[in-house]
Amino acid sequence: MNFIRVRAHGKINLALDVLRKREDGYHEVRMIMQSVGLYDNIEIVNLGQSATGKPEIEIETNLRYLPNNENNLAYKAALLLMEEFYISAHILIKIKKMIPVAAGMAGGSADAAAVLKGVNKLFGLQLTNEELKKRGVTLGADIPYCIDGGTALSEGIGEILSPLPPMPQCIILLVKPPINVSTKLVYGKLDAANNEYHPDIDGMIKAIEAGNLYDMTKKMGNVLATVTEAEYPIITQIKELMLEKGAIGSMMSGSGPTVFGIFDNREAAKEAYNFFKASDLGRQVYLTDGGNGDERY
Ligand code: ATP
Repeated sequence: MNFIRVRAHGKINLALDVLRKREDGYHEVRMIMQSVGLYDNIEIVNLGQSATGKPEIEIETNLRYLPNNENNLAYKAALLLMEEFYISAHILIKIKKMIPVAAGMAGGSADAAAVLKGVNKLFGLQLTNEELKKRGVTLGADIPYCIDGGTALSEGIGEILSPLPPMPQCIILLVKPPINVSTKLVYGKLDAANNEYHPDIDGMIKAIEAGNLYDMTKKMGNVLATVTEAEYPIITQIKELMLEKGAIGSMMSGSGPTVFGIFDNREAAKEAYNFFKASDLGRQVYLTDGGNGDERY
C-alpha cells in the first residue's frame, strides 16, 4: 500500500464547561463533543525510502496561510509515529482544508488524528485507537476525541472520553464570522476560579440518551462564549439571527468564533443558509449534519 485517504471531521461543542485551571496551566473541562459532516480531506502518499535515512514529510495544502512545515499538526502527528517506529520513508501529506481555521472546530486536531490513523494503516503499525489516543494527546487535548469522533463527553483536559449515543437527527448551520480568535487568549481571559456559570452537562447527556433534540438544545451552553462574545458582538448578532430564522438552538463552538445553529426543518435551514451566504456576517457558511466521525474510511 502506498497511498491512503482519510476524512478529518470537524467538531462542534454542544456544551462546554470549564471546571478549573490546574497548577500546570491546563484547564479542566467538561464538554459534549459532536462531529459534523464537514471534513478536511487528507491524502498520505508513501514516496519510498527517504534519501536521508530519516523520516521526510512534505505538506501540501489548498490554503496558503496554513503552515506547510513542522508547525502543521499533521506533520507533527506523522513525525511522532515515524520516529517511534523507525520509518525512514519520504511521505507527502495533502490537506484539502474545508473546516474553518482557528474557529473553534478543532480543524488542526482533526487533521492530526486523521494522520495518526492514516500512517498507522499505511505502514501496518496495527496500533489500536486507544494506543493512538495516548500518543495524540501529547500533541493536543482534542486529538483523542477526534480519533473516535461521533458524540462524546470529554473530561480532564480532553483525554477522558465517554462515548454517547448519536445526537438526535437535525440540520446544522455553521457560520464563521470574518474574525480570528486565538484559543489561548480566550482561555487566558477566562477567570475560571470566579466563573459562576456552568451549563447543565448532565442534563444534556440525559436529553441525548433520550433522543430528545428539543431538550438537548435547551441545555446548550458554553462558558468560553462569555469571554469571546463580550469582545466580538458579531457572534451574538449571528446567534440571534439564527434563532430568528428558525434555529431551535444556536451557540458559539469551542473558543469561537464559529456559531452553529440547530434546525429541525430543512427548508428553514436552507433559507437561513442563503441569508448568511448573502450577508457579510459569515466568511464561511456551511449546511451540514452530525457526521459520525471517521468510521467510513
Ligand atoms: P480548537 O477548536 O481545537 O480550539 P481551532 O479550530 O480553534 O481549534 P485550528 O483550526 O485547529 O483551531 O488551528 C489553530 C492554529 O493551528 C491555526 O492558526 C493554524 O495556523 C495552526 N495549524 C497547524 N496545523 C494546522 C492544520 N492542519 N489545520 C489547521 N490549523 C493548523
